[in-house]
Amino acid sequence: MSRASGDVTAVPAKPQPLAHEQLDALVEVLNDVRERGSRSRPGIIRSTGLTRAVVTSRVSELLNRGLLLEGRLGPSTGGRAPRQLEFHADAGHVLAADLGATSIDVAVADLSGRILGHLAEPADIADGSGTILGRVDELFGEVLAGTAGIPGDLWGIGIGVPGPVDFGSGCVVAPPIMPGWGEFPIRETFAERYKVPVWVDNDVNVMTLGELRAGAARGHRSVVFVKIGTGIGAGIVIDGRLHRGAHGSAGDVGHTQVTHDPTVVCRCGKIGCLEALAGGAALARDATVLAREGSSPLLAERMSAHGGRLEAADVSWAASHGDAPSAQLISQAGHLVGEMLSTAVHFLNPSLIVIGGGVSNAGDRLLAAIRETVYGQSLPLATRELQVRRAALGSQSGVVGVATMVIDELFSRERFARWVEDGSPSGRPELAASAA
Ligand SMILES: [Zn+2]
Repeated sequence: MSRASGDVTAVPAKPQPLAHEQLDALVEVLNDVRERGSRSRPGIIRSTGLTRAVVTSRVSELLNRGLLLEGRLGPSTGGRAPRQLEFHADAGHVLAADLGATSIDVAVADLSGRILGHLAEPADIADGSGTILGRVDELFGEVLAGTAGIPGDLWGIGIGVPGPVDFGSGCVVAPPIMPGWGEFPIRETFAERYKVPVWVDNDVNVMTLGELRAGAARGHRSVVFVKIGTGIGAGIVIDGRLHRGAHGSAGDVGHTQVTHDPTVVCRCGKIGCLEALAGGAALARDATVLAREGSSPLLAERMSAHGGRLEAADVSWAASHGDAPSAQLISQAGHLVGEMLSTAVHFLNPSLIVIGGGVSNAGDRLLAAIRETVYGQSLPLATRELQVRRAALGSQSGVVGVATMVIDELFSRERFARWVEDGSPSGRPELAASAA
């Protein structure tokens, strides 16, 4: 793509439509500071390959719009020390809600994704969209009221849900654990109420974004994140951006077929899915069999102490207390996930694989089995610098991820084009004054 050159026009006093190349450069310069941490004009020139004139002009425009600040004095390279550029994270704030199968988390964050206030409470997603989203609305009010020093205006809202989402429409599609949610206009409801743009995405994608910007995957451009919870799903990062696919179902790897055994029936209705063998629900099911058969006295003891029920966490616990059959279950799950990942490695050549979700707390045994299989089954060029790590963000990973999604969308090229013309991120003219 060619770059605008000789572009030294004065910064317009009022927001005006930008040419394509000017807009591309504006977004690229902003994101270079925001995501990659460039601190000076020469740094941005090196990092983006844009010309000095273009960078100078776009930096001025971003300073005028209140999106960049000139802060502390940077290191001098002989002459006068330049002021360091910073992303103006306090220009506004965003609201994030992360819905789990059994929980609601809400948070308010600044524009860097830093969490300023966070509330969490148990909930049952099967209570339906009206009840759950009504509660989210109340919790948004509570977190805003209870957090001191929230900067600027509300710029956007994000909602993460534990089911498949058509990202384009913001609707949940055939959600297995969210009956009745399919038709509910989540985005329109919150957009109408708060008068800001709203984005909805699935839990795995938002966790991927959280790890990418603030967790284990910081600084990587090609990443595969795998969440092993009750089910299994993946988030795919290509060239620093989350890849959602044509309809938002990219990374739905839990339903790849790994066996033709007709007795392995998945909750999706198909035979032999990965998550029907290696997900948390599968581990709990297999552990129950081990306990009943008498192959694992430790699991049997645990089961009777827990009212006849076992969960994936019990398998991890038993394995860490020397129970060989439990250790075997976890290794087997790790090998199956590793086989799926070695295919992903051949397709995508990531520099990093991140393992998250409840079952990833099973400890080193799971990670070791995944590593062994991925390195053993992939070609040397693909694994030469490949790392496999555990996710770094703990209980806040959902809300950090949702806030990150909103911020990434606010500063995406498409959205940016609109709000450069509107004069404000929300399209509300009164915000133009505070951003100018
Ligand atoms: Zn399935």
